[in-house]
Amino acid sequence: MKEIKHFINGEFVGSASGRTFDDINPATGQVIAKVHEGGKAEVDLAVAAARAALKGPWGKMPMAERMDLLMKLAAGIQARAAEFAAAEVADNGMPITLASHVNIPRGSANFIQFAEHFKYVATECWEMEGALNYALRRPLGVVGIISPWNFPLLLTTWKVAPALACGNTVIIKPSEETPATTALLADVARDILPPGVLNVVNGFGGDSAGSALTEHPDVDGITFTGETTTGQIIMRAAAGSLKKLSFELGGKNPNLVFADADLDACIETTMRSSFANQGEVCLCGSRIYVQRPLYQAFLDKLVARIKSTVKVGDPTDPATTLGALISKEHLARVQTFLDSAKADGATFLTGGKRPDGLPAHLAEGAFLEPTVIVGLGRDCKAQRQEIFGPVVTVTPFDTEEEVLELANDTNYGLSATVWSTDLARAHRVAAQLEAGIVWVNTWFLRDLRSAFGGMKYSGIGREGGVHSLEFYTELKNICIKL
Ligand code: NAD
Repeated sequence: MKEIKHFINGEFVGSASGRTFDDINPATGQVIAKVHEGGKAEVDLAVAAARAALKGPWGKMPMAERMDLLMKLAAGIQARAAEFAAAEVADNGMPITLASHVNIPRGSANFIQFAEHFKYVATECWEMEGALNYALRRPLGVVGIISPWNFPLLLTTWKVAPALACGNTVIIKPSEETPATTALLADVARDILPPGVLNVVNGFGGDSAGSALTEHPDVDGITFTGETTTGQIIMRAAAGSLKKLSFELGGKNPNLVFADADLDACIETTMRSSFANQGEVCLCGSRIYVQRPLYQAFLDKLVARIKSTVKVGDPTDPATTLGALISKEHLARVQTFLDSAKADGATFLTGGKRPDGLPAHLAEGAFLEPTVIVGLGRDCKAQRQEIFGPVVTVTPFDTEEEVLELANDTNYGLSATVWSTDLARAHRVAAQLEAGIVWVNTWFLRDLRSAFGGMKYSGIGREGGVHSLEFYTELKNICIKL
């Protein structure tokens, strides 16, 4: 059986406790690896190694040399892209086409992006009468990175890359559900980075590696992507040592479709914004609002498109468009939303059940058909809470004011999508949506220099471009009397 160990100070090591847990393929239900479970002992070792590396060659390395090492990490991932993609699929259940076209290439591109961008960012300088102020940027220090399971490599390197580009050292706590590609990243880094610069400690969240990291007095910052409730726990844990925090949290994102929308383009993109990665994307639009004149046509086209194009099945098959959900436990959680929608009187236009006719080797897999629900009131659980599965609710609306009120009636504020060919309306509506990211006539189109993050319960701070630079550095102002 394959073992996944921690990576501390440049070496793969087992747990002091000898404890392991199972890494399960959610499509087959098979155990694919035994993962070493870390805790305080391993986090202590990783923090000591990361601190020493900051004081060692890494801390003294010229920026150009550091950025060259990041480019080598990107190339190292690309050289083993097929291995990374297969590991991501086995861990997560996502279709192989998604892993090999999005997750792994973007996971690698993060290193290129931040290495190139940060080279050219100047610091500020303020001239005053008789004095000059200038600012120096210094690394934040030892940074703890806690990642979720939904886009494991992409979301982990989204934080590792800017952290290293700024000269920090990192300790990654990957999701217990998907540790494989972070272990592969460590394997790539072993030949490239000095020991202690990139460390990985596997384990769970509370009372495990996660809490050991967030409570550690010698960790300078925590950057976390995951559930809002976990963010609340981490904030409390980090308060004792006043760590700098960056949070990318959950969402209940609205898609606003106006009657003047280009319906074909909208349906094409809605297929992705609803069901990409089985709907397990924080940016998926799970509440769709359609202006009444287009409502029926939208539903007819969406359902027809689902029935004619979606293939739920073996994630390793390139023809599969919808793979397995992350686990049986998560599927059961998604099912509770379907049950409550039924109890609330919803109509299921399609989906809501396990697909028929899956092959025998997927009998234990966590599969769900893409699901479209109508007829729910705004206060129903399925309309208010993040489901994180291939499930959307569709609701008609009449006016711009009404849909803005509906869209903003949530604690979350991550992303939103507006479909309209009226440019003035698109600007007007986008400006009033309470979301950190608004897409107009598109979805998931990302320029990595732009700000990424959520309002309200969807996050704290922004990452991407210079916003990542703000988080991963300390700015020091120097004032000289002339
Ligand atoms: P999660 O919060 O359950 O777990 C995320 C990570 O936090 C895991 O590594 C877990 O082990 C760790 N963790 C859990 N409890 C902890 C604790 N007490 N202390 C320290 N670490 C702890 O989230 P998940 O189920 O893995 O991911 C799905 C969630 O992530 C969804 O809510 C989704 O919206 C969100 N997400 C947000 C973004 C974004 O950019 N805003 C991106 C992807 C996913």
